[in-house]
Amino acid sequence: MMHRRGESGNMIDGNGGNRDSCPVCTARQIVPFLSVAAHSLVRCLGCGVVFLNPLPTEDVSHAFTAEHYNPERVTRQFLGREAEKREEFGRRLSWIDAFGPPTREILDVGCGPGFFLDEARKRGWDACGSEISPASVAHARTHLGLQVSDTPIQHMPFPEATFGAITFWDSLEHFRDPLGVLRAVERMLVPGGVLAVVTPNVSSLIARLCGPNWGWLKPPDHLFLFDPGSLAKILALAGFQLLEMTSKGGDATHLYQVIVRLGAPLGIPASFFMHPVLRRPSHFSCQVIHAAAAPARYLLGRALMGPLIYAVARRTT
Ligand SMILES: [Zn+2]
Repeated sequence: MMHRRGESGNMIDGNGGNRDSCPVCTARQIVPFLSVAAHSLVRCLGCGVVFLNPLPTEDVSHAFTAEHYNPERVTRQFLGREAEKREEFGRRLSWIDAFGPPTREILDVGCGPGFFLDEARKRGWDACGSEISPASVAHARTHLGLQVSDTPIQHMPFPEATFGAITFWDSLEHFRDPLGVLRAVERMLVPGGVLAVVTPNVSSLIARLCGPNWGWLKPPDHLFLFDPGSLAKILALAGFQLLEMTSKGGDATHLYQVIVRLGAPLGIPASFFMHPVLRRPSHFSCQVIHAAAAPARYLLGRALMGPLIYAVARRTT
C-alpha cells in the first residue's frame, strides 16, 4: 500500500486519499461514524475525533468552494446579527481576561467581518485577524479599519511569541490540519499566552438526538468535529496546558433541529417547521423557549454535553 506523509507527519492511505490512521493522534483505529449526503465521517477510537474521510486534498481556502460554502452569504447572515454577536464577544473577552493574558496583543483566527476584533480593540487590545472570506475581509478592513489578513494562518509570517491571546471562534473545525494549525499558533503566543477555542460538540445531547441531521455536521464545510475528550487531546499534542473546559450554548434553533429530527419518522417534512419566526433566535417566541430551557441547558453544560465546547489553554514553554 502506498503512503505519503500528511502535514502533521502521520500517514495517509494512498487509496483514494482515505486515511487509515487518525490525523490527530495517529491511531490506526478508524471506524465509520455517519454518512451525510455523499460524505463519510469517521471516528478515531484513539482520541475520539470525528473527521471527513477522505479529507479535501487542497489547502483549507480551496476546500471552501462556492458549491459547498458561500462566504458572502455567511457574511450577510453574520452582519444581520451584529448586536447579538458583539454582546457575546464582549462576554468572551471578559472570559479571556480572567486567565490573565501576559500581553494585550490578540489574534482572532477566522475573524469573520471583525466584530470580535473591534470589541477587543475597545477594551484596549492591539487586535488583528485572519480570514478567508473576501466579503468578511473587506468589511473588517473598510468599515472597521482592522488589520485582517487573508493569508492562511499556517503561512502568516508572525515571529515567535507575538501574541498574548489567540482565539478560534467556530473556526478550528474548518481546518484540514487542525493539529498543525494549533502547533503553529502555539509558537505565536508568548510563554503563558492564552488560547481560547469554541467549537461544536459532537458528543452533545443535540448531536446524539439529531444524528445525521445535526446542523453542525456540515460536510465538507466542517472537516473535524471534536468533543471534550478529543479537544483536550489535540490541545495537549500541540503543547498546550488546558486551563478550563466547559460546554454551553443552545437556543431555540437547536430545539427546532430536534423537533425536525423527531418529526421525520412521523412523516412530517422539515419544511413544516421552516417558519421564519422559528428560525430567528432574537424573536420573542424564541426568547421564551430559550428562557424555559435554561435549567436543561445548565445541566447539559455541566455534563459537558452542551452544543458548544469552550476551552482555554496556555502556552507553557
Ligand atoms: Zn485520534
